[in-house]
Amino acid sequence: MAIARNIVNIAITAAEKEGAKKITRVNVVAGELRGIIPAQLIFSFGLMAENTIASGAYLDLEITPLIGKCKQCGEVFVVKDYCYVCPKCRGEDIQTVSGIELRVKDIEVE
Ligand SMILES: [Zn+2]
Repeated sequence: MAIARNIVNIAITAAEKEGAKKITRVNVVAGELRGIIPAQLIFSFGLMAENTIASGAYLDLEITPLIGKCKQCGEVFVVKDYCYVCPKCRGEDIQTVSGIELRVKDIEVE
């Protein structure tokens, strides 16, 4: 719910800056690690958007996979099942490159 509220707020702030009257679509990028359940977020977004200029806006959710980078050999790979082990050198010193972000990529307005 808090995430949905944030998204609505960010979208409204951006739309108001452009002088828009209505938000028709919000494109969101969310990392896999956020554990977002798309159907749930879309539902919450709809509730939060009620009685705002984002009411009825379509929420497009792009889930980015969890990607790690091995600090030993530099290998970049998709982390599966939270297994932070380099597939190349078996190193365990892994840096998270992607998969934790949450941002509004862009919005479409009228
Ligand atoms: Zn490695």
